[in-house]
Amino acid sequence: MRIVMKFGGTSLSSLEHISRVAELVYSKAAKGCETCVVVSAMAGVTNQLVDYVKRSSKVYDAREYDTVVSAGEQVTAGLLALMLQQRGLEARSWLGWQAGIKTSDTHGRARISSIDGSRLVAYLETGGVAVMAGFQGHHPETNRITTLGRGGSDTSAVALAIAIDSDSCDIYTDVEGVYTTDPRIVPQAKKLKKISYEEMLEMASLGSKVLQARSVELAMKYAMPIRVLSSFKDTLGTLITSEDKDMEKKSVVGVTTTKDEAQITVIGILDAPSIAAKVFSPIGDAKINVDMIVQSTSRDGRVADVTFTIAENDLDRTLAILNAKRDVIGFEDVHADSNVAKVSIVGIGMRCHTEVAHTMFKTLASKNINIKSISTSEIKISVLIERDYVELALRSLHDAYKLDEE
Ligand code: ASP
Ligand code: MG
Repeated sequence: MRIVMKFGGTSLSSLEHISRVAELVYSKAAKGCETCVVVSAMAGVTNQLVDYVKRSSKVYDAREYDTVVSAGEQVTAGLLALMLQQRGLEARSWLGWQAGIKTSDTHGRARISSIDGSRLVAYLETGGVAVMAGFQGHHPETNRITTLGRGGSDTSAVALAIAIDSDSCDIYTDVEGVYTTDPRIVPQAKKLKKISYEEMLEMASLGSKVLQARSVELAMKYAMPIRVLSSFKDTLGTLITSEDKDMEKKSVVGVTTTKDEAQITVIGILDAPSIAAKVFSPIGDAKINVDMIVQSTSRDGRVADVTFTIAENDLDRTLAILNAKRDVIGFEDVHADSNVAKVSIVGIGMRCHTEVAHTMFKTLASKNINIKSISTSEIKISVLIERDYVELALRSLHDAYKLDEE
């Protein structure tokens, strides 16, 4: 049996915590499992390192950013290896480059291009416990350290599990699994026993912070089941796996929200076939992600308005681009609204339950919540609303879809 266990920052936030993790790892390794552990930095450390970088240089060199922010994982990997050795196990730390984790050179959010699992496998076969620093990789051509984007150690764990052909990939965290919604906002939120890759991918992309979305994408591609479970409590957690018959019974499995959205309306563009291209090409060229798009035609049919959302972080940049292209696009005015949030419902059962959308709109209407924009996919419906109403929306939707029931 070969296993990957990944621990997040809150499970490693002090020496006592790391020692508890060591105990948990010991209990698996002592049973004869070939064990590979992936660690995050101690809670708060990565934020601190990011802050140091930003205070050292305004327009920082992304390569040095990666050198600095990847350091947190080096510390926890070494400390955990030491504590495992204390318990009589053969153990050692592995940094990204030592474990053969090759990535692109998009520093700050690099993609893994390949992992040479053979070195780790050879080590595991000698009976050693491998403790790998998550979040980091190596770009061989430039010989620089890279990082995989915030939350990236989930992706390290899944990629590693695939590369070493692990029997499981367990992500230990400070919650007991994946919930129907954020339990801090809706106390009735329920832990899910099982969720499909597709649903989890939507949930992760739409604001559930449990896993980095890319880790789910990778697990889905290689059919690697992920289990999310608590490092503190011995419960079963949530299994993320391929969809099965049972899963379609419920139309909706989760409600999520992202608050870091902003909405832009470009007003009075001449209604001609090239509108969308004119507005969105320069934004796309700047690698800004556009999400919900609505185009409405004015009453006389000659000019149109285009409304869309972007991440709030990109708001200033997007407005600057639009204003610079004002003559080319030919619009009258542009409005921005950052007091918005996206609320989404997710479920593969939506494909065969037709009343789902209606229930969502009716529920929000009954609470007097105005919908500014809507977008849908096969398994999710998202609406944009005023930020102040997020909690009310989550609570009433959770109720409306009876997510507190088994
Ligand atoms: N320590 C990194 C972060 O905080 C990676 C991770 O924890 O997954 O983003
Ligand atoms: Mg995380």
